[in-house]
This record gives sequence, structure tokens and C-alpha cells, in this order.
Amino acid sequence: MPLVNTFDMLRKALKGHYAVGAFNANNMEIVQAIIEAAEMEKAPVILQASQGAIKYAGLDMIVAMVKNAAENASVPVALHLDHGTDLEQNIKCLRAGFTSLMYDGSKLPFDENVANTKIVVDMAHACGLAVEAEIGQIGKCDDSDEPGVSIEKAKDTMAVPEEAAEFIKQTKADFLAAAVGTIHGCRTAFAKLDMPRIKKIQELTDCPLVLHGASGCTDEEVQKGISAGVCKINIDTLIRMAFVGKMRDVLADKPNEIDPRQVLGPCREAAREVVRNRIRVFGCAGKA
Ligand SMILES: [Zn+2]
Repeated sequence: MPLVNTFDMLRKALKGHYAVGAFNANNMEIVQAIIEAAEMEKAPVILQASQGAIKYAGLDMIVAMVKNAAENASVPVALHLDHGTDLEQNIKCLRAGFTSLMYDGSKLPFDENVANTKIVVDMAHACGLAVEAEIGQIGKCDDSDEPGVSIEKAKDTMAVPEEAAEFIKQTKADFLAAAVGTIHGCRTAFAKLDMPRIKKIQELTDCPLVLHGASGCTDEEVQKGISAGVCKINIDTLIRMAFVGKMRDVLADKPNEIDPRQVLGPCREAAREVVRNRIRVFGCAGKA
């Protein structure tokens, strides 16, 4: 089926108390893995592209791959921009056929974040598309970080509920990425979600909440978040680990292999299994 509107997908999830997985698509095999997993689990799914992925694969290539995969899929597929930090990137994605955008002005002062987010929201709404915006700052794990360091890092920049409410009131953004205890890129699950904060933000904004850095959460932690209003969960690191981890194994087993398909095929399967598992944990299986 053609790409679907992300807004409807997430409003349905909020009502149904489950979360839709938003998986980062970096190459053809990962796009295929995500779609296959969603079909096997009969789940709606969001494929998202970061600015890094767009730079790597090319915007037109990403859109063509995801559109084609969606059209041939038996489940609803949406295409989302992940962390668009400038207006131009958002405009390009809107024109290219994305079904939702993200403006990330979280590093800017509040007023500037509001003003820029508003521009993207006005533009997107005029075209019937939804926008995710960020409040607080969701940081990044360094490879050398001990678990405790990362938890402390996350604490420093969490979203303030009253500010989040004001932000949504002024910008009319549709989905909110609020910093609530996770950070990006963690390879082990030690993030602790600030549940009272999530509940308060949901209550004050009535917005579908987006959990970034969710590769760093245990299943239990993720499910607690969903019960408090998280309905889009971003997963990138777990896919990277499965994909490249399998690549290491295959190359260690077959050091003389030169056929990329023999190497990348098993990586695609490994990524698919991670995505299937997340979809089940998010309560999204069977919701297509
Ligand atoms: Zn993120």
C-alpha cells in the first residue's frame, strides 16, 4: 500500500496503549529487514532517516527504496525524518514525499526552538503532515561511558513538564520527543525512565510521546514508558549491533568470501529478528 500518514498511525497507538517502532533505515538491506519484520508481525511501522543516512544514501534513493518497499508491503508503512536540525532539511524531506518530519531545535534557546519549530509545523500542516519536535536534550553515549555516567548525563538535560506544555501550546507540534532519561547510542540497557515526568508531560500536552535512545532500555522499562503515553519508539543502535555483529561473524567464518550477498544476507536476517522482537515488546504485533 502507499505510504501512510504518521499522525493517524500514532494517534491510534496512543488510544490503543501500544507503541509503533520507528526504525532507522540506513541501507537497502535494513529497509528490507524492517519491512519483512513488520509483515511477519502484522504491525504498522515507521522507517526513519537521519540526516546522516540521507547524506550517506542520498535523499532520492532513501525515498525510492522506502516507497517501493511500502507499496509492496501488506502493512502500513510511514516515512519520517529523524532529527532534522535545519529548516532546509525539513523542506527537502517534505517535498521528497516523507509522511512526517522532525525539527530538532533542542540545542537552541527555548524561544528560538519555538520559533523554528513553528515554521516547520505551519509548513507541514499546510501539506497535511505531522511534525515531531524536541524539548530538553537527549544526549549521546560515548563508547567509554560507564552506565552511571550516562544516567547522570541524561538527568542534567531532562524536559521540564511545564516548559513542554508551553512548547506544544505555542508550536502545535504533533509528537513530542521529550528528554526523560534515555540517551542515544547506548549498547547496554541501563537507562532509567523518569516515569512521573513522562506522565506529567503526557497529561499537560496530550501529545503522543516519542522515546529516543530506546536501545538503552530494558523491555520492562520500555513497557512502563508505553503505559504512560509513549507511542513512538526509536531504535537504531540495536539494529546496528545486530547487523554489524553478524557481519563480523560471517567474515570470521568465511575469510575468503567476496560475494557481498553472502555477507549481507545473514546481516539482514539478524536485523529483521531484532526488529520483530522490538515490535512484540512494543505491543504493536497484530495492530496493522
Ligand atoms: Zn533521537
